[in-house]
Amino acid sequence: MPKQPGLRRPLARWIDLATLLTAGAALLLAGTLLTVYQVVSLRSALVDDARVQARIIGENSTAALSFKDPAAAHDTLSALEFSPSVLAAAILNEHYEALAHYQAAGDDGPPPRADGTLMRDGYRFSAGEVLVAQPIIRMDGRNLGTVVLRVSLEQLWRRVLGYIGLTLAVAAGSLAIAFLLVARMRRVVRHTEAHLDYLAHSDPVTGLPNRHAFNARLAFALSKVDQFGGMVGLLFLDLDDFKVVNDTLGHQNGDRMLKQVAQRLTGVLRTTDTICRIGGDEFAVILESATSSRESESVAAKLIAALAAPFPLDKHEMYVSASIGLAIYPLDSADLQALIRNADTAMYHAKSRGKNAFDRFHPDMEQRAQKRVQLENSMRKALERNELRVFFQPQISIATRRIVAVEALLRWEHPELGLIQPLEFIPVAEESGLIVPLGKWVLEAACEQAARWAAEGMRELSIAVNLSVRQMREEGLVDDILAILNRTGVAPGQLELEITETVLMEDVEENVRLLTRLKAEGICISIDDFGTGYSSMAYLKRFPIDQIKIDRTFITDLPADAEDRAITTAIIAMAHSLGVEVVAEGVETAAQLAFLDEHGCDRVQGYFLGAPLPGPHVTVLLNAQQEELQASLPRA
Ligand code: C2E
Ligand code: MG
Ligand code: MG
Repeated sequence: MPKQPGLRRPLARWIDLATLLTAGAALLLAGTLLTVYQVVSLRSALVDDARVQARIIGENSTAALSFKDPAAAHDTLSALEFSPSVLAAAILNEHYEALAHYQAAGDDGPPPRADGTLMRDGYRFSAGEVLVAQPIIRMDGRNLGTVVLRVSLEQLWRRVLGYIGLTLAVAAGSLAIAFLLVARMRRVVRHTEAHLDYLAHSDPVTGLPNRHAFNARLAFALSKVDQFGGMVGLLFLDLDDFKVVNDTLGHQNGDRMLKQVAQRLTGVLRTTDTICRIGGDEFAVILESATSSRESESVAAKLIAALAAPFPLDKHEMYVSASIGLAIYPLDSADLQALIRNADTAMYHAKSRGKNAFDRFHPDMEQRAQKRVQLENSMRKALERNELRVFFQPQISIATRRIVAVEALLRWEHPELGLIQPLEFIPVAEESGLIVPLGKWVLEAACEQAARWAAEGMRELSIAVNLSVRQMREEGLVDDILAILNRTGVAPGQLELEITETVLMEDVEENVRLLTRLKAEGICISIDDFGTGYSSMAYLKRFPIDQIKIDRTFITDLPADAEDRAITTAIIAMAHSLGVEVVAEGVETAAQLAFLDEHGCDRVQGYFLGAPLPGPHVTVLLNAQQEELQASLPRA
């Protein structure tokens, strides 16, 4: 659920205030204790001072007391004029009768006497006064008298007040500074928190919300539908073959392209829709404003159209398409997890239909997706369990009408599902990477069969093996192939590697390097499914190829379809001009064969000439052909 910052702020303020009040109270308590301590210590210092004064007066009054001389005693007391805190003083004889007393100017209190209670007669001591009696002035062991001082505490209170004022000012100042520091620290923390929050919830490359934020927003959108009704459309968008961009132009350009993709996609959405980047080349769009499933579908179509124009990158212009899956809450899915799963399933469905497309989720897809997972799991075991077979389909030379090559085609004899065709499992194997061990196995099986045929005298027969894109990106491919040829004794010139035109054009530089290496070893290269990709003459000239196989979609409607006629004849002419042999795939009728023959096609392959068959069946055909050849030779 998204956070509610509105609630957090007043709470934080209350916490601030409470902290401040507590700190203030603590300071006040400390100040009070210090003040009390100050009062006590100042008072005792004052009393000590007064005692010293009284003692000095007493020492100086010994003579006056001995001779009972009030004038001399009075003189001694008059020195107190300069003492700011003494209000009144008296020198008393041994009977506690005043010999002399002193009264500070302006003081109207009673003269001090030795006995505190007596001193209080008719006079209330104020909090501002203290009585100090200096007991007993002695001489030769005889009590002469005593000195009594009444001292003002006014100065003490003034100092204490000053101290309290200073303490309060220091406390208030400290609190103010602390408050400012705390406020500043809070601001820094809030700013850092906001930045961390941004980093945790957004994708640094595109600036879009990331997967984390996506989950929260989707949950929030669904909760709104639960409360108020309506629907939420979820689109999962996966860029097709984006890896190629990264591999060929580098990750930096890949990131730049992702940024442009994000901008274009955002451009076609409404402000109420949310787009997030949830993976490397995956985006998710939450459509909250969609009022019908058709509206969501039209957004998906718009997103696909938005990517149609090329993306400028450095000196290149790159194209990228996307496959999109759509699932609608609550129509297609009852909860968040199901919605995500279904949008994903629909996206995979769109991809498997040939990419650059979108599909709305349908329950059937789930079954298909499950089947796909099962397929992948059982495919992993197929090799060990020896369930794979290689079939061979003949290729006939039009000139000699003889089998000059066979194409190795993989078959899977599943113990429960029966014979599975490669179009069903090869894409799954490609995606999971299983195609690498599978492809190697086919190569070995095909070469072993070729070796058996060679042993029977058919050394001229070429063997064509399909190579997948994943195999081509394998480091040790060339070494693996050479090792297999070496082990089986098949001549490199007998092996034809078929690479589809689309794969060939995906990474021209890399493929030119690979094919040149293979060619240098004497292996033949054939371009499969020719006409379905986007190769140009300029590019074709760069590849060291021996053969082009015209895709069967151009053969099917021959010779009736004018366009196919034109394409086929053009491909044959172009290939021959490059010195490349032409094979026509999917020849099913005599009319197709006749047309291809007439226009100079070199080889044909198709059900009309022979379906893919297990090795021993092809051996029978080859033997028959061999016998026919023997029979046609003039006898000696
Ligand atoms: P491909 O290489 O273009 O193989 C030709 C496909 O056309 C084969 O389908 C073959 O059975 C089929 N075919 C042959 N003659 C005719 C015809 O007259 N009419 C029609 N309609 N079809 C015909 P298959 O065996 O199902 O293979 C399909 C694709 O699977 C192959 O297309 C190839 O791309 C891939 N594949 C098959 N085996 C392997 C393999 O061992 N490795 C790799 N990487 N791919 C393979
Ligand atoms: Mg092929
Ligand atoms: Mg083909």
